[in-house]
Amino acid sequence: MLASVLVRFRKRSLIATGAALLGCFMAQTALAADCPGNPNALGTSRTLVVDPREHPRIGTMQYPETLPLHDHEVVLTFDDGPLPKYSNQILAILASQCIKATFFTIGSQARANPEGVRKLIAAGHTVGTHTQNHPLTMNKMPIEKAKQEIDDGIASTLAALNGDKSKLAPFFRIPGLLRASAVEDYLASQGIQVWSADFPADDWRHISPQRVYDLAIQRIEATGRGILLLHDIQPRTVAALPRILNELKTRGYRIVHVVPATPDRPATPTEPQQWYLHPPTETVATTRWPKIPNFVYTATKTLPAPVFSDMDWRDADVIDHAQHARIGVLRQTQWPLPQLAQTAPVATLPIPAASVFRIPEARRLTLLAARIPAHHVGPPGTPQAVSARQAKHPKQATHQPPGVPRGKGPLPSQHAAAPAQPGTSVRVANLKKRSPRAEATTVPKQRVPD
Ligand SMILES: [Zn+2]
Repeated sequence: MLASVLVRFRKRSLIATGAALLGCFMAQTALAADCPGNPNALGTSRTLVVDPREHPRIGTMQYPETLPLHDHEVVLTFDDGPLPKYSNQILAILASQCIKATFFTIGSQARANPEGVRKLIAAGHTVGTHTQNHPLTMNKMPIEKAKQEIDDGIASTLAALNGDKSKLAPFFRIPGLLRASAVEDYLASQGIQVWSADFPADDWRHISPQRVYDLAIQRIEATGRGILLLHDIQPRTVAALPRILNELKTRGYRIVHVVPATPDRPATPTEPQQWYLHPPTETVATTRWPKIPNFVYTATKTLPAPVFSDMDWRDADVIDHAQHARIGVLRQTQWPLPQLAQTAPVATLPIPAASVFRIPEARRLTLLAARIPAHHVGPPGTPQAVSARQAKHPKQATHQPPGVPRGKGPLPSQHAAAPAQPGTSVRVANLKKRSPRAEATTVPKQRVPD
């Protein structure tokens, strides 16, 4: 919104200034309103002057720094030309949008098509170099050979410009972005700025123009600003570029033209943090210098001084001191006491009445008879009768523990609750249905092993 307002404002202002001033202004910066035949052109919003010696390596694909662009500012770069068939189409597309870009030419291409280099300069674009033969081994070749590739590429491009160094920017892009420290050091020693990129569009791969367009827009949108890497020798780039530019304009992006600083053209003033894609913000304390302590005293609440009554009463020294000082009875400590484990409430059953454990005499005798050892029982299948003597004196037939009272009367609950001996268990519920006599004659049979 703001950008569109600014563009409209600039449009009115420039119309008022007259054609002479407009033509002069177009020499450096072509605004959308300046674009003949295309009032809706994307245009070039501003020219950024950079000093290669201050920032020898740029492009966040490989380096910490990148161009000091504002949000929604994009720099277009094209590699590997000039190749007339496609480079001329790229030039026409850019001209139709009044856009200035940066071209990294290959020395051998410049030798084969010097007119193509001159067209780039004549159109107002920036021209850097890209080695002589585009070797994809700059990261591992001997430095002397790398130097030769660099120097030959510059010489070939300069030859197309009749040796006019003022027309050639000290900008260089390593083929395939295959960087090497020795190569970068050599370029820096020559005052040449190494350009990586912030996002490619993969237009050198065998993909469709639609895919090139999608990648370009998606990656620009993901970063918001930066250097777009394209190639002016690819038909898919030619096909995708108009849509890319239209979409950038629709989304409010602006194109920035980058030129090198010269004695007559000082570098655009910038702050160091502008050369970082994600510069540290003022709100991040840890990035400030000098560093501040990690303690934040202002946010700390001061607790009240403890009173004596807060002391643990179990501390013997405290008690002695309190007694000596005649402070009196200490209050219970205010520290949280250990919490007992919370148990689920259990339903409490009523205490059983004594009558529950009272067993009729006849059934008691049956139970006692059931405790006769197996060796006192006859052969299997033979019912064993319990004599009256055995019934009256069960101790002779059972191993009743000592202390258990004998005779008539209800058995104590202790005896009734005692677990039965193995092999002597009796199901009382069944016995209740039988007569005392029948029980006395049949119960032994149940516990005889087969
Ligand atoms: Zn290349």
